[in-house]
Amino acid sequence: MTSLDQVRAWDAADPLRGFRARFALPEGVIYLDGNSLGPLPRATAARMRDVVEREWGEGLIRSWNDAGWVEAPARVGAKIARLIGADADEVIAADATSVCLFKLVMAAAALRDGAILAERDNFPTDAYVAERAANLLGRPFRTAGADGLAGALAPDVAVAVLTHVDYRTAARLDMGLLTGRAAAGGTRVVWDLSHSVGAVPLDLHRDGVELAVGCGYKYLNGGPGAPAFLYVARDLQRRMVPPIAGWFGHARPFDFAGRYEPADGMARFLSGTPPILGLLALETGVDLMLEADPARLWDKAARLHDLFAERAAARCPELAIRSQRDPARRGSHIALGHPHALAIVRALIGRGVIGDFRTPDIARFGLTPLYLGYEDVWRAVEIIADVMATRAWRDPRHRSGGTVT
Ligand SMILES: *Cc1c(COP(=O)(O)O)cnc(C)c1O
Repeated sequence: MTSLDQVRAWDAADPLRGFRARFALPEGVIYLDGNSLGPLPRATAARMRDVVEREWGEGLIRSWNDAGWVEAPARVGAKIARLIGADADEVIAADATSVCLFKLVMAAAALRDGAILAERDNFPTDAYVAERAANLLGRPFRTAGADGLAGALAPDVAVAVLTHVDYRTAARLDMGLLTGRAAAGGTRVVWDLSHSVGAVPLDLHRDGVELAVGCGYKYLNGGPGAPAFLYVARDLQRRMVPPIAGWFGHARPFDFAGRYEPADGMARFLSGTPPILGLLALETGVDLMLEADPARLWDKAARLHDLFAERAAARCPELAIRSQRDPARRGSHIALGHPHALAIVRALIGRGVIGDFRTPDIARFGLTPLYLGYEDVWRAVEIIADVMATRAWRDPRHRSGGTVT
């Protein structure tokens, strides 16, 4: 059994300790929701002030050239590429994840006949997008549960949308194995990395991945509604025709040509004018993450989870741990099941421990190694144990809350 003294010694020896001060985390809060909305990097507040007041306010339209705005989608994409095992020219930042996914599913499905497959129980936007793409293209649409995925990746499936880390249970799929199995039947997989990027090791090249999307506002700390990103393996880029032909994806946008001609490379996946404020906030979050040694991040994330699981099993046994024990098979959050998980999460937020709820019965706690310490986890579990022991979650105040859980 780990002791509080040991936990404090781990924090004192933690090589990532210095990153905590780089975030503007409020006093009295233990933030365990960085898997849903990353906290504010201090550098982002300063960068935004400069972007708004100097680059926009004084530079005006000149800043598209002078401040490098026009290169921002590719520049931020190149930085994200380093986190996912891709080359700089294979990633571009744009749109919301749902829109990026639509672009890749439509373009990939156009390359061959066949059905479109999505997961039944994963983050629902992915299945919504895949089904609509199937309808638009007149293709069969299928779903499969996590257990049936390998069998569902049949040769008559043109495109499958798979989420690498499950948003509820944190279960992590075997990316290399499933991509290989799909490829053997000629199926292209679009991987959704929303709960993976910045959370677990990724090596898209090693795993033979051709197509992927991911989210900017979770582990990358890009800010609310930050742009997402798309990845297309270089050899495939030329063959992928985006379903939205917009001027920013044109080979020469400022020729204002009468005919659309897609840009070479990833720029063709841009549609309209990029959201510069959001992109530059995302860039600051990505820059901060790139400063950390990835091996240390993954190692600490696994240890934070193990500590949380050990303490939760000892201190609040009525909460069922739903995430995997094996660090290689899970993401960077812990999932606890309880029929009253929503009221429990609300009671915890009232006590400064911020996690979130996912239907039907899961309390999720993001264990983000960049700014959390081992003692944070210890203290959070003590507060959870108190909420459980005192039944504080039964307070009628916790019966209702805002739209966003
Ligand atoms: C968070 C998340 C998204 C987010 O989609 P947006 O369109 O960017 O809001 C998509 N897919 C998965 C799996 C996610 O976890």
